[in-house]
Amino acid sequence: MTTNETIVVVGGGVSGLTTGVVLLEAGLPVRLVAEEIPGRTSLAAGAMWGPYLVEPWAKVREWSLASLGIFRQLAEEGGAGVRMVSGVEAARHHVEIPSWSELLPDFREADSSELPDGFVSGHRFNVPLVDMPVYLDYLGRRFCDLGGEVEQRTVRSLDEVTDASAVVNCAGMGAAGLAEDTALRPIRGQHVVVENPGITEFFSEDTGLSPDLVCFYPHGDTVVLGGTAIDGDADLSDDAAAAKRIIERCAAVEPRLADARVIGHRVGARPTRPRVRVEADRHSGGGPVIHNYGHGGAGVTLSWGCAREVSRLIADGYR
Ligand SMILES: Cc1cc2nc3c(=O)[nH]c(=O)nc-3n(C[C@H](O)[C@H](O)[C@H](O)COP(=O)(O)OP(=O)(O)OC[C@H]3O[C@@H](n4cnc5c(N)ncnc54)[C@H](O)[C@@H]3O)c2cc1C
Repeated sequence: MTTNETIVVVGGGVSGLTTGVVLLEAGLPVRLVAEEIPGRTSLAAGAMWGPYLVEPWAKVREWSLASLGIFRQLAEEGGAGVRMVSGVEAARHHVEIPSWSELLPDFREADSSELPDGFVSGHRFNVPLVDMPVYLDYLGRRFCDLGGEVEQRTVRSLDEVTDASAVVNCAGMGAAGLAEDTALRPIRGQHVVVENPGITEFFSEDTGLSPDLVCFYPHGDTVVLGGTAIDGDADLSDDAAAAKRIIERCAAVEPRLADARVIGHRVGARPTRPRVRVEADRHSGGGPVIHNYGHGGAGVTLSWGCAREVSRLIADGYR
């Protein structure tokens, strides 16, 4: 039941659902309001833990580390679509060790025998892989089991939410309109989902700033193949030609993927800005707003850390 202590979370993607769970677990009543549940971009993610396309590093480090601990625990418990999986990130040129490697105790340089043909450097590590349809379903159930309310509708403006002690803006790309944020831009991404021909390890190529990515993530019976990163493009329709090229690029690294049966296509728009925005603000009507958006290509990776920060801001009096 809604009370004037209720926190309204706008957004039903990984950010909104995780924030809702964390606030409910802190003892606060929560109503989640969203157009689409689960959020389309969250559903499209691969998803591998890894701080990709996000800044600033000091905060990203803290948020990623918090999520890493929780994903490890979820992988151990089972049932949430999270697994710890080993694999290789490789490049066709020499690459430096990434800054986030210090967060992964078993991160090491890959032997040349572990690199596909044509690759000259790479690293092996063990990370959480998240099967997003299963995981978002798990988060939704956890939210409802904790007593969270869900309302499916479009919010035109944050100040229309008047029956709440605070509004948390987890609207992904929707925040461009709701927070009038011109710094937020989409980076379109596409994945192809295939039946798993027996792949047990992830692979990811360091392609720098190229819009053509190469990665594959096994999730038991399926493998998610990627991908694309097209800056400024928010079109969410499937691109058949791009899907064909994704399969070809992945099959060049792992030939078993060439004839794997295609099960589906997923497209999303990474909500990207120069810095992830987790901060307290006020909407035009004067009510408190906590923003939690702009997670770029790492919204899953940052989800638990950012949700905890929202919870801290609310506990510190922004409600
Ligand atoms: C192809 C691809 C691969 C990716 N891979 C990874 C990965 O491996 N690891 C990783 O960590 N991240 C990955 N990401 C990034 C990650 O998916 C995003 O950062 C994350 O999903 C953003 O989540 P969100 O909840 O903020 O937004 P969304 O999932 O977009 O959810 C936004 C929510 O807000 C709602 N909404 C918006 N506007 C309104 C409104 N006006 N009224 C009501 N509701 C509204 C929407 O309906 C939706 O429910 C990937 C993304 C893509 C596209």
